[in-house]
Amino acid sequence: MIDKGFDTEILSVGTELLLGHVTNTDARDVSEMLSKIGINVRYHTVVGDNPERLRRCVEIAKSRADIIITTGGLGPTCDDLTKQILAECFGLPLVENQAEREGLYDYIKYSRNFTPNNYAQALLPEGCTVFHNSCGTAPGCAFEKDGKTVVMLPGPPKECQAMFVRSAIPYLQKLSGGQIVSHSLRIFGIGESAVDQLFREEMDRMVNPSMAPYAKECDCLLQITAKADTAAEAEEMIRPVMEEAAGRLGEFVYGVDVECVEEAVFALMEKNGMTFAAAESCTGGEVAARFTDIPGASAHFLGGAVTYTNEMKAKLLGIDPALIAEKSPVSYEVAYEMADRIRKISGADIGVGVTGLAGPDGDGIHEVGTVFVSMAAADGVWVRELHLGEHRTRSFIRRLAGNHVYDMMRRYMTGLRILGAEKTI
Ligand code: ATP
Repeated sequence: MIDKGFDTEILSVGTELLLGHVTNTDARDVSEMLSKIGINVRYHTVVGDNPERLRRCVEIAKSRADIIITTGGLGPTCDDLTKQILAECFGLPLVENQAEREGLYDYIKYSRNFTPNNYAQALLPEGCTVFHNSCGTAPGCAFEKDGKTVVMLPGPPKECQAMFVRSAIPYLQKLSGGQIVSHSLRIFGIGESAVDQLFREEMDRMVNPSMAPYAKECDCLLQITAKADTAAEAEEMIRPVMEEAAGRLGEFVYGVDVECVEEAVFALMEKNGMTFAAAESCTGGEVAARFTDIPGASAHFLGGAVTYTNEMKAKLLGIDPALIAEKSPVSYEVAYEMADRIRKISGADIGVGVTGLAGPDGDGIHEVGTVFVSMAAADGVWVRELHLGEHRTRSFIRRLAGNHVYDMMRRYMTGLRILGAEKTI
């Protein structure tokens, strides 16, 4: 960890979280962003909208964390207690913030739903730093008291994220007395434990910059973080470490500071001016959906077909029913045809195909998790046979199969060998 690690507790407030009506994505998002600036999250706590239990949680957090970050409960209704209880636990009165009250007044002009209790949102702990809410009405805030730092963020995820990035990160950066910069190498094809083993020695030795692998849902990343007086100095410290690590990980690195492999594929398609189309069976359109989530996808994704049944594979793609019957729809041959045919039908540079068993039921021939992914281009067709695990969930198998599709495309466009797949003309 860099210099001094701040132990942090995220305290999410909301009965809806305890009832399972809402997933605690705020804690996940804030944790992820904190790890990027080198701050250790030690505890996640969830508590309902109950003053006594919230008070107890704050006391516990005070006893074990340096930074307490709350999410939710900043709104105007009587069950929005976070500010009141936190202020009370730290012995601070709530005072009205003039600028926020005026901001709320302005808001009235545009909102028919505004009621007088909304002004309660302008009451904030005395002496705090106010975080304006650019996506909603409830301001957040931060203060330091009794050797602890408290940050309060609103519950709605968009508001929480925007405020964290815009206001809380700069506040926490200042607190740590320097600039923390972090970059991550995104890796597909080798797991977190292999990455850990590869860099264990350095990781044990390194303090600043520091390096740590993290598992994501279907791939992993290696994060390198440095702290210095200025961001430029921190960047300089990170650069050689990144280069060395990227060199050792080689072809398994699909991008730097990207969120997913399709983002890397999008960048390569932009660079090369290429297009693709997809024929999907077990992924049910997920390959297409993931790519079309990226703004500008229409320049590169021509379209696709979800051909779930044998009939649709024959009707839409023109695959010979006798071939499907003979080889089974989950086969090398059918995957080959899917990629090849969608490429020809669409006129795209690349065609991709996915056919497999996402489970939980098998087909009596293959084990669940058997998937064939394929890619066709002008110079050949490649098919990868995958065994993604019998006990995996459908969503995991689909996501991982999609990652393999994108990995094949990335490898093709960067001239790398397409691991696990022989080229067939
Ligand atoms: P506002 O009153 O402006 O909506 P708030 O801070 O009072 O903000 P809450 O009332 O606690 O927020 O929650 C509003 C909504 O935000 C919840 O109904 C829920 O949909 C979402 N939300 C709250 N907390 C979380 C969380 N930890 N993770 C994901 N979503 C959350």
